[in-house]
Amino acid sequence: MGRLKESSPVIPLLLLLLLFPLLLLSQVSGESESSREGNAPEIHCSRHRSRAAWQIIQDYLTPFVERERYQIPNKCRLHPDNDLYRDQEQHKVHVDIYEWKCGYCRKSFNEEKFLDQHFDTRHYNLLNTTGTKCLADLCGALHCDFVLMSSKKGKSKCNPAAAAKNRHLCESLANTCFPVSQGPAASRLHEHFLRQFCDAHTCTGKNKPFPKGGKKKSGVFYLAISILTLMLLPLFYLLVFLHQREKRTGTQVLRRIVKTGKKTKPS
Ligand SMILES: [Zn+2]
Repeated sequence: MGRLKESSPVIPLLLLLLLFPLLLLSQVSGESESSREGNAPEIHCSRHRSRAAWQIIQDYLTPFVERERYQIPNKCRLHPDNDLYRDQEQHKVHVDIYEWKCGYCRKSFNEEKFLDQHFDTRHYNLLNTTGTKCLADLCGALHCDFVLMSSKKGKSKCNPAAAAKNRHLCESLANTCFPVSQGPAASRLHEHFLRQFCDAHTCTGKNKPFPKGGKKKSGVFYLAISILTLMLLPLFYLLVFLHQREKRTGTQVLRRIVKTGKKTKPS
């Protein structure tokens, strides 16, 4: 009993000695990315929503702008220069499914969100935060929620005041980005922008956003369909062939029966 009492304080001490380097290590690795967070300025612009807005522009507007060979003016808030995160987003290198590389310092990450965090803590100085350059601020006009929520199937109640506000923002974008006075191409794009984005800002639910469609979605679906067709086609021909053969043998048997019937009749 006496021995046990003497050795009891040794065990926690040993444990502490064993765990201390581990604790220290975990703290250091955690610190490596977050130590500069204190210095990073707080940016009131959602990277996630800015990315969604950028994708909507790419999918539902850019193909039409390119077809018209139209140059979006710099003062237009949809211009790439007016996206706070554009430079950082362009410095993302997607090497593999689980490998994202920082284009500034070549550091690798296994998820995009970790690269985003890295940009926020290490390369925040590259963000030009002067002026209003937040693409996420245009999300109301561009229907970001429609795109972001479509996977969750969440539908919020329509607010007439918010719809009117978004419609106003949408129309002002159409006016600054595609001024009708700029010529026929700008006029056509102005009209297109109103139909594609602004008409749906009502609570009637009659108009859906992006009625004119956009860039074709990734070819995965089409690839799957074509592979399936290629696989099913030989099977279809085989079935047709077998059916035809069965028909032929069937008629031959019938003929034989008829023939033998005819032979036995005259008596
Ligand atoms: Zn970096």
